Amino acid sequence: MSKFETVIGLEVHVQLKTKTKIFCSCSTEFQSPPNTNICPICSGYPGVLPVFNQRALELAIRVCLALRCRINNRIYFERKNYFYPDLPKGYQISQYKMPLGENGFLEVSSGKKIRINRVHLEEDAGKSVHKNKYSLVDFNRTGIPLLEIVSEPDIATPVEAADYLSCLKMILQYIGASDCDMEKGLLRCDANISLKQTEDKVLGTRVELKNMNTFKGVRDALGYEAARQEKVLERREKVYQETRLWDGNKGATAVMRTKEEACDYRYFPEPDLLDFFVPQEFIEKAEMYVKELPLEKKKRFIEEYKLIDSEVDVIISNIWLAEFFESVVKVYSKPKEISNWIIGPFLEQVNNLASDFNLVKISAQNFAKIIKYFSQGKLNNITAKRALSLVITTDEDADEVIEKEGLRQVSGEDELSGFVEEVIVANPKPASDYLEGKLSAIMFLVGQVMKKTRGKANPKVVRTILERRLKNEK
Ligand SMILES: [Zn+2]
Repeated sequence: MSKFETVIGLEVHVQLKTKTKIFCSCSTEFQSPPNTNICPICSGYPGVLPVFNQRALELAIRVCLALRCRINNRIYFERKNYFYPDLPKGYQISQYKMPLGENGFLEVSSGKKIRINRVHLEEDAGKSVHKNKYSLVDFNRTGIPLLEIVSEPDIATPVEAADYLSCLKMILQYIGASDCDMEKGLLRCDANISLKQTEDKVLGTRVELKNMNTFKGVRDALGYEAARQEKVLERREKVYQETRLWDGNKGATAVMRTKEEACDYRYFPEPDLLDFFVPQEFIEKAEMYVKELPLEKKKRFIEEYKLIDSEVDVIISNIWLAEFFESVVKVYSKPKEISNWIIGPFLEQVNNLASDFNLVKISAQNFAKIIKYFSQGKLNNITAKRALSLVITTDEDADEVIEKEGLRQVSGEDELSGFVEEVIVANPKPASDYLEGKLSAIMFLVGQVMKKTRGKANPKVVRTILERRLKNEK
C-alpha cells in the first residue's frame, strides 16, 4: 500500500456546438480545407471589431446550470496575451477575473461529487502543422467558441479521472452543448497531478499533463505520472512544477516546459467588447434544456422500469436512445422486453448504420408492434430481426412488410410435418445419432427445417415434432 495519496484536477476544453465562431460569422465546420473559414476578425487584422455570438453564451449557460455553478450574469472578457504562430492576434479573448460559472460540482458514477472551480468562455487558437523542413498554419479553428471547465483537485485516482470525463461528456451531449468528439478535438483534457503523504495537509508540487487525446490516454498518463512522482519522492528528491506531454506510443510523459504563471499572460479587459448583464429570460431559456441529467435519469429508469444497472447504462448512454426507449414504453408497457430488443437487435442494426441515430426513422409504434409479434410468437427471432431491418430506416408499416415478405411465423403442425419428414429422410446420420443418445444432433435437424422454411418456422414447434417423430421411429 502506497503511503502517498494522488491528487488530480482536470481542465477540460470543450468546443461549443455553434454554427459560427464566437466573435465573427465564420463557419465552425470541421472538415473545411485549411484557411477557408476565416475573415479579418478571426485572422487578427487591425481595426476590426469582435461581435459576441449569442448562441455560444446560451450553450455555456446550459453547461453552468448542469454543473450547478453560480452564474456571474455580468459578462466580461479579458485578453490573455502570448505569442504563438497559430494565434494571429497575439492574444486570446478569454475570461479570467470573472468566469461565467463558479463553485459547481459534478457527480460521478460512484456518487462522489467532484467540485467545479470555474467554467469560462474563450476562443480557440489555430493549428500549426509541422512538416519536415517547414511549418504550416491553419486559422480555421481560430475563434471557435470554447468552454473551459476546471475541477477542484478532488479526483483521487486515474480511473476516477476517466469516469469524471465520461460523466461530463455525457452531460454535455445531453444538454446539446457539444458533440464532445475527442477524435475531432471537440473535447480536450489537461490534468494537474500531485502526490502527498496521506497525513499531509498541504498539497504536493503539481505537474501539468497535456496531450492526452483519449479516455485511455488520460487514465494511462495519470497512472504513469503518479508512479513516476512516487519514485521521485521515495528517493527523497524534488518534483518540479512543469508541464509534461504524454506520449501514448512510448507510454511515458516528458517535460515540455516549466510552468508559466497567470501574470505572464498580462490579462487586461478586452476594450473591444463592452461588458453587459445577461437578462433573466435568457437564463430561463437555457434552463429548459437542463432538466434531467444522465445520473438522475439512470436512477429513475431503474426504479420506474425495474431494469438492471448495466441495461440502463446502455439505454441512457445516448439521449436520443433514452427518449426512444420511453416513447416505446408508452405504447407497449413491457420495459424489460423493449430493453432487450433495444440493447440487442436494435443497436446491432444501428451499428450497421455507422451508429448514426439520424438515419433511424422507425416510430415507437412500429417498433413496439415487432416486439409484440415476437412475444406472441407471430414472428420468430429471425423474422422479427428481418422485419426490423426492413423498416428501421423507412418506418414502413410493420404489418405490411410482414405480409409482403411473408415473414409470419409458421407454427402449424400440418404445415411443418412435411418439412420435418423431408429433413429426416435427407439426413439419416444426425437422425440416428440422436436416437443413439447424441441429443445435440437434433439442433442440426431443427436448423435444416428452418432453412427449408426460409427462417419462418417456429423452432420450438419444429423441435417437438422432430422429437416425437424420431422417437416413434425407434
Ligand atoms: Zn472569422
